[in-house]
Amino acid sequence: MSNWTPDSWRSKDIRQVPAYPDKAELAAVEERLSSFPPLVFAGETRGLKEQLADVAHGKAFLLQGGDCAESFAEHHADHIRDFFRVFLQMAVVLTSGGSKPVVKVGRVAGQFAKPRSSDNETIDGVELPSYRGDIINGIDFDEASRVPDPNRMSMAYRQSAATLNLIRAFASGGYANLERTHEWTMEFIKDTSSYQQYEELAKKIDDAIDFMRALGITAENTPQLRETKFYTSHEALLLGYEQALTRRDSITNDWYATSGHMLWIGDRTRDPSEAHVEFFSGIKNPIGLKCGPSLSNDDFKRLLDKLNPENEAGRLTLITRFGAEKINDELPRLVELVKSEGRTVVWSCDPMHGNTVKASTGYKTRPFDSVLSEVKSFFEVHRQLGTYAGGVHVEMTGADVTECVGGSSAVTEADLESRYHTHCDPRLNASQALELAFLVAEEMRD
Ligand code: PEP
Ligand code: MN
Repeated sequence: MSNWTPDSWRSKDIRQVPAYPDKAELAAVEERLSSFPPLVFAGETRGLKEQLADVAHGKAFLLQGGDCAESFAEHHADHIRDFFRVFLQMAVVLTSGGSKPVVKVGRVAGQFAKPRSSDNETIDGVELPSYRGDIINGIDFDEASRVPDPNRMSMAYRQSAATLNLIRAFASGGYANLERTHEWTMEFIKDTSSYQQYEELAKKIDDAIDFMRALGITAENTPQLRETKFYTSHEALLLGYEQALTRRDSITNDWYATSGHMLWIGDRTRDPSEAHVEFFSGIKNPIGLKCGPSLSNDDFKRLLDKLNPENEAGRLTLITRFGAEKINDELPRLVELVKSEGRTVVWSCDPMHGNTVKASTGYKTRPFDSVLSEVKSFFEVHRQLGTYAGGVHVEMTGADVTECVGGSSAVTEADLESRYHTHCDPRLNASQALELAFLVAEEMRD
């Protein structure tokens, strides 16, 4: 750690690196980015860490979610607003279910770089470099699109700034006002059972607000009713971009990544001796670590030491993603280890990435039942072992997509082709996301 610098990762082995054809151009873009304003401010990031410390101590719950990959094509106000309103609906459901504050962290305003299982993709005998997210190359299957282009980093930075700007306006400018809970509902979910459940809850909130108004507590004089805190997060995969946005905080003199409030390390790049872990070890942000079935006890211990040597509460969120089939065998091992090492962490469940299957129609999908089943097991394991199930991490959108099968709106394998819009992994649509929130709320009550 003492030798850490924002670029010390460059001397380590690294995975998932794009093959930029012009290294001088890449360096020039990184140089320019390093002179741009930070997207988030270190003081806010410390605020999130404090809230996550509350989660670690069982006093709050973490909701983290958003697109698998943001895209340049979907950069519209409607897309951001619809995501935000469903997210708020989920948060209201969880707040009421657990009677605890919900810490809101979007996979948004920076979630562009994607790890891939293979460097190349072959379609009809044609082999091209894999799509790695809009910050790196284009999704179209042609040679020109797939060449990594460093200028995409500047575009991603600009898009993140604009997205964050609108979200900040929504969060504090009246859209998140609890007097508006009915208005957050998307038209297309109005014939699902979660909608009925949500309306009942919204009615109870209305009654509580009426009661408080009679006492003189109103949205006008109470910021907690009128606005919310919303934080951003993404997988910090593209380290050149992250380094360019890593700045020394003028108050504490510490280094902070300023591309988002919380960053996480993906399941494919968490080798303790490699570049990504090196970069994360020196930034002060709250960080996430994706933990999948291939994580050995030995590596896990080394990661806990490297990423949170001071055992600071709120610093490290362990995002487990084993899949419904494996979670019961794998999660207890990690929980026991954390307990025996005396570590304070946030335990969060990603019920998406271990449950991806190929539908008979060829689409990558996730059965909603498997998602629910993994979440249930997550709560059950923590109940059994006496630890706190602190959060969920989901891939979701406010749009009426057909990407995950099942749910009360009953998306079938045959439906997948109708509105399959994701740039990478299948997301829960608005009604599936809300349905999941109700299930989590139930588990929080148990
Ligand atoms: C993701 O969160 O989109 C992702 C790639 O996850 P994981 O690293 O857990 O596979
Ligand atoms: Mn994903």
